[in-house]
Amino acid sequence: MPRKAKKAHFPESAPVSEVEGDCPLCGRLLAPPANRHHLLPLSRGGKGTPTVLLHKICHDKIHSVLTEAELKRSYHTIEALQQQEEIATFIRWVQNKSPEFYDRSARRKK
Ligand SMILES: [Zn+2]
Ligand SMILES: [Zn+2]
Repeated sequence: MPRKAKKAHFPESAPVSEVEGDCPLCGRLLAPPANRHHLLPLSRGGKGTPTVLLHKICHDKIHSVLTEAELKRSYHTIEALQQQEEIATFIRWVQNKSPEFYDRSARRKK
């Protein structure tokens, strides 16, 4: 049986060289891993629309809280995302983390 082609896990992963400036969602300095987020989901007519570079943790949060339909309908601006209750709570929490913070197990001290 042919093996299923493995889907790239994070197709919007940004090259490290592009990761600079601040994350528009949480306002912290950007650091890899970072993702490009389409303010209008690609699957909903968002091709060619603006993208923003976000911390991967911020990007994951957006997609864990909101469906693509909701993103298209009400959350296609950073301001709207920041006001979403769960995301607002997340931003307050992530403010105090280091920019590289993503997975506590990935940076084990020797
Ligand atoms: Zn962020
Ligand atoms: Zn996204």
